[in-house]
Amino acid sequence: MKIGALEAGGTKMVMGIFDEEGHLLEDKRIPTRPPAETIPEMIGFFQEKGIEKLGIGTFGPVDLRPDSPDFGTITATPKLDWRNYPLYTVLREALSVPCTFDTDVNAAALAECRLGAARGCENAVYVTVGTGIGAGICVGGKPVHGLMHPEVGHMLLKPNPRDPMPQGFCPYHESCLEGLASGPAISKRAGRDAGNLPDDDPAFTLEAEYLAQMCVNLIMVLSPEKIVIGGGVLEREFLLDRIRKETVRLLGGYIQAPEITARVDSYIVLPELYPISGLIGAWLLGRDAQ
Ligand code: ZN
Repeated sequence: MKIGALEAGGTKMVMGIFDEEGHLLEDKRIPTRPPAETIPEMIGFFQEKGIEKLGIGTFGPVDLRPDSPDFGTITATPKLDWRNYPLYTVLREALSVPCTFDTDVNAAALAECRLGAARGCENAVYVTVGTGIGAGICVGGKPVHGLMHPEVGHMLLKPNPRDPMPQGFCPYHESCLEGLASGPAISKRAGRDAGNLPDDDPAFTLEAEYLAQMCVNLIMVLSPEKIVIGGGVLEREFLLDRIRKETVRLLGGYIQAPEITARVDSYIVLPELYPISGLIGAWLLGRDAQ
């Protein structure tokens, strides 16, 4: 049986064809244009491959309430062409196969929990730090939805007094994680592209501090067994060690779990399935579709 996987992103759509064992047989990436152009191309790809199930992990925010008439709709995205677009319903009806739908970060969290850096954990968080910041959370082995779905990227942080941009740049909140620590936040604060900054730039000290505040908040609220952090910003792998040290410091000795205090190197980790955690997660979602 061929299982289709779609990681729907704001800049690109990644489509994969997997077998039941999870072997990636074929994949294709196309730029995200307005739905009228993008959707027919995706439907054509999946139809041609003869998929029997489809898993979708998408950018959001999305409506994930199972009893909602708008289930599977992309809601308040700044990408206006996609606002209120019923992605799940359109694909399910066009392809006439069972579909499962979740956020891209929940899909990635599921993949890392089942097969990647957090395998063996029932409770773990996957965070991606890039153009935006998002996180998927698995509790009891399943992605958390709750009332909507978690929006870790918009948790409020305490700005560093030496931060020249302490308010961040999120249009909705002052001093939220994404506004202070996403890739564009680093660039905006530095006045030049973050990709061109040297590793010893002070911007990365601040970055590690903010991501450590995030880790502390996640630990205090969710008690995860592992925190997986990936995304473009973490391609500077030296950041990870700074985040670990700063997290332990900020915990202030209050949390005494040796998994964190003695073995933080294996507690806050890079993803193992990067850069296709989301696509593999979409396959897992598709495999379980009924
Ligand atoms: Zn925000």
